[in-house]
Amino acid sequence: MNSPLVPAYWQQQGIEQVLIDEASIARRVRELGLQLSVELGDGRDVVLIAVLTGAVVFVADLMRAIPTRVAISMVSVRSYGASTTSQGAVLGSAIPKNLEGKHVIVVDEVLDSGGTLRLLRAEMATRGVASLRACVLLRKQREPALSTPCEMIGFDIPDVFVVGYGLDFNDEFRNMPFVGVLGADAIRAGVKR
Ligand code: 5GP
Ligand code: MG
Repeated sequence: MNSPLVPAYWQQQGIEQVLIDEASIARRVRELGLQLSVELGDGRDVVLIAVLTGAVVFVADLMRAIPTRVAISMVSVRSYGASTTSQGAVLGSAIPKNLEGKHVIVVDEVLDSGGTLRLLRAEMATRGVASLRACVLLRKQREPALSTPCEMIGFDIPDVFVVGYGLDFNDEFRNMPFVGVLGADAIRAGVKR
């Protein structure tokens, strides 16, 4: 697959490659929304729970690709570790209340160490949910990501640090409309500007 050119502005900001372009993301998100609506019928008792902050862009598009009424909620999970790796996950907010009997879909932007999904699955398992799915936009091609249970995956990607479409570096780049690879020099420099 030919990767599209990096727009000049983003190239100046240290983006080396467009990994997934806007049109490909939009197409895949529509497919995931359709799959969910086929599996979940009229949307009754369905709750999408997005993981802040990275999943906000993805869930905003995914929810609009579902043609029925569904409930939306958010949960905050903090990962710790260096700025481009994650080693552990801790809850940063309460789990939404009243999940008993609900069909829960945990929505996250990237499955990396798997810590976030493992933590949320363990929490949901005690809430009497009717069904539980995890839906991630990206999954890194590495362990333990590959062996972490996850029902729906947008794209499998190489084990590189990516930004855009909700994914950040130092809280920036989330608004970049495609998923791109941030170069090592830019990471080292902390994107001085
Ligand atoms: P986990 O390691 O728990 O599967 O993922 C934890 C978090 O690490 C993700 O939600 C995301 O915030 C962050 N993360 C992992 N890989 C990347 C990456 O390539 N780019 C960015 N920006 N964040 C990542
Ligand atoms: Mg995240």
